[in-house]
Amino acid sequence: MDNQREKLLEIKHLKKHFKIDRNSYLKAVDDISFDIYKGETFGLVGESGCGKSTAGRTILRLYEATDGTVNFYGENVHGKKSKKELKKFNRSMQMIFQDPYASLNPRMTVKDIIAEGMDIHGLVKNKQERTSRVNELLETVGLNSDHGNRYPHEFSGGQRQRIGIARALAVNPDFIVADEPISALDVSIQAQVVNLLKKLQHDHELTFLFIAHDLSMVKHISDRVGVMYLGNMAEIATSDDLYAEPLHPYTQALLSAIPISDPEVERTRERIVIEGDVPSPINPPSGCRFRTRCPFAMDVCASVIPDFQEYKQDHWVACHLYDDRYNEEYKTKGN
Ligand code: SF4
Repeated sequence: MDNQREKLLEIKHLKKHFKIDRNSYLKAVDDISFDIYKGETFGLVGESGCGKSTAGRTILRLYEATDGTVNFYGENVHGKKSKKELKKFNRSMQMIFQDPYASLNPRMTVKDIIAEGMDIHGLVKNKQERTSRVNELLETVGLNSDHGNRYPHEFSGGQRQRIGIARALAVNPDFIVADEPISALDVSIQAQVVNLLKKLQHDHELTFLFIAHDLSMVKHISDRVGVMYLGNMAEIATSDDLYAEPLHPYTQALLSAIPISDPEVERTRERIVIEGDVPSPINPPSGCRFRTRCPFAMDVCASVIPDFQEYKQDHWVACHLYDDRYNEEYKTKGN
């Protein structure tokens, strides 16, 4: 990545473990490190249960980190903070939720839902300014001022997601975590919401962490993409590089599951099929966590955790196939 670009977030060795009982922990996020640059969209992808939503929430401090740091403009979000400092983080970092049905208070009018953050952070001086700012936000997300006096149940799924976006924008954030913001919507509406997010990013110089379970969903919106598996980061690359040359067997399998519209290409392309379910994050496999499903697994994969290394510029991968200390075993098997 361009060294001139400013890092907005530096996530280092972040862990979030949930206590299950006296002796066991669910290791939802287990030592992930990556940067997010100002103005970019970083797509975070993986199957359900891989830890991506927990990672997003821990970055925002909606969950306390078990270990590791999240530096936002150079300050650790998880460090000891005064109420004033926490309020500043809460304003600058916002979230758009997956389920527009559940994330809006049904007893509040749309106007009050959108204005709540502005009230908390004292961003408007009087009622008139509040109303005019709400109307402006409604227009920004493709709704109109008449919508402000209605209640969430009067809107479609796509419109409710627009209300959620207006609510996040109301406090002028720098960074937004969008947690599967389109997966609960009809396919016909998904592109509209993605286009709206892209426009807002451009107009408001926003930085996004865009979480999705499917690589095809993040392709058009992300500058870079991280692929998570069972609490670990498997691969990070620019969007173009990841789709053109996926390195990790898990990424290759995710990509080969996306249908291609050209029937000839679809019929002849090589597929990597992964068998079985994701193992439990309470008791993950030793060594590489993907080894129980990986078609290329070697003996070393059971005993040594792969380093997350920059295999080529801006393309990081955690797999022994790309580590000369270990991949002899793979080569000598005649592969
Ligand atoms: Fe597969 Fe081994 Fe690479 Fe893990 S480290 S992805 S098991 S080859």
